[in-house]
Amino acid sequence: RNGADIIDGKAFASALRAKVAAGVARLTAEHGITPGLAVVLVGEDPASQVYVRNKGVQTREAGMASFEHKLPAETSEADLLALIERLNADPDVHGILVQLPLPAHMDADAVINAIDPAKDVDGFHISNAGLLATGQKAMVPCTPLGCLMLLRDRLGDLAGLNAVVVGRSNIVGKPMAQLLLGDSCTVTIAHSRTKDLAGLCRGADILVAAVGRPRMIRGDWIRPGATVIDVGINRIEEDGKTRLVGDVDFEGAAAVAGAITPVPGGVGPMTIACLLANTLTACCRANGWPEPD
Ligand code: NDP
Repeated sequence: RNGADIIDGKAFASALRAKVAAGVARLTAEHGITPGLAVVLVGEDPASQVYVRNKGVQTREAGMASFEHKLPAETSEADLLALIERLNADPDVHGILVQLPLPAHMDADAVINAIDPAKDVDGFHISNAGLLATGQKAMVPCTPLGCLMLLRDRLGDLAGLNAVVVGRSNIVGKPMAQLLLGDSCTVTIAHSRTKDLAGLCRGADILVAAVGRPRMIRGDWIRPGATVIDVGINRIEEDGKTRLVGDVDFEGAAAVAGAITPVPGGVGPMTIACLLANTLTACCRANGWPEPD
């Protein structure tokens, strides 16, 4: 029997999108300005195509302008950089997102760092990573920002809690750890070379899994009552069907945890909602208007 409360990321994200839409409507009414998000997709990666389509739909639903740039896989890095330069200079574009992964012939770091940091709504530019790490006003990566919102909503003040983040990627694990540190958690970052991962996880009041390995984190790794945030999105074949599962063994963990995010319907929907929130924030900052809270 499930002991844990299920954290409803889908509902939380829907409320956040409604709040962003209200903020957008206010800007449009008061200033005649529509926040705009440009999304750049290079190549035909099927998962990326789905993400980009969903981003476009939700951007428009929030009342913002969506500019989609789809480039062939063989586009040169120079041509992509030229497009980013145009978007940096375009006053109708307040946010720029380059969908990752990029084709292998491109230097993803160079491309991301070519985005104007003020328009870097993914928060991956080195300036934003540095601002976040030093506790300054940054654009914060969307997935970890969504996780932080769910944690604050569930737990209130996070100060003093033991947080274990499994995964150290630049897009999830590292910024997640920075955000938790910013909220005064005691943070441990685990990765593929970590010793006794199970024992480490058992000490966590907050466990964030961002690994990319289906159901790797078992129920008996969870501290009773812990809050478990499962970032993983893994497509597996099971009983002749394709299923989406997280990095956490949901059934096992839900029997022990105090609260847990499901997959799908947990962290996933928060990512695009936070992208929209970041775009609204970028638009307000660009114009010197007060930021939405
Ligand atoms: P990466 O592959 O970039 O990073 C995975 C991390 O997990 C690495 O730091 C790696 O360690 C670590 N790791 C791998 N195997 C193990 C292991 N056996 N034990 C401990 N640590 C391990 O993935 P991302 O951070 O980009 O994504 C993680 C997951 O989150 C994926 O399932 C992805 O699909 C999902 N995701 C979901 C999003 C959403 O909800 N919207 C957005 C982004 C990602 P090392 O560094 O040592 O190799």
